[in-house]
Amino acid sequence: MTPELIPVLSAEEIDLLVSDLAQRISSDYQGRDLVLVAVLKGAFIFLSDLVRKLTIPVKIDFIQAASYGSRATSCGQIRLAKEIGVDIKGCDVLLVEDIVDTGLTIDYLLDYLRSFQPRSVAVCALIDKPERREREVPVAYVGRGVEKGFLVGYGLDHAEDYRHLPGIFHLKL
Ligand code: 5GP
Repeated sequence: MTPELIPVLSAEEIDLLVSDLAQRISSDYQGRDLVLVAVLKGAFIFLSDLVRKLTIPVKIDFIQAASYGSRATSCGQIRLAKEIGVDIKGCDVLLVEDIVDTGLTIDYLLDYLRSFQPRSVAVCALIDKPERREREVPVAYVGRGVEKGFLVGYGLDHAEDYRHLPGIFHLKL
């Protein structure tokens, strides 16, 4: 059977959400040393759209998490596949993530980033999926809450497919 793609957010809707987030971030971090740390690979399009809408200067870095074991059984242990390369000590850091689902990845990455003694660390996620949340994580900036379903497009993949789609879809296999 061919997988079904059910539209969740159009490119136009995403554009409005990202503009709104960029406006809030630009205002909140005015005059500060802000480093955006995006989580690979899913956040790559979100980050590139977000930075171009900011009205303040920022530094950019990438981080990559990988999980041991099965995420489906919710006992997947997280490890780093790519460390940060920018010195964030004393800086304000904004962790830019595509989706917060169980919260385990963000929880792990926040602890990791805090070990470098930044001035502050906050989270910006395009999509918040609270349904499967296991760890309470502070997400200061959320584009949109989505109740459930596996999402693809706008950087989000399923087995490396669908990242190129300009909108976000619910993938029904
Ligand atoms: P968490 O640790 O919060 O469960 O997982 C966050 C990561 O799982 C996200 O960075 C994303 O890579 C992946 N993820 C969670 N939900 C989805 C989804 O609906 N679609 C895709 N493509 N990835 C997801």
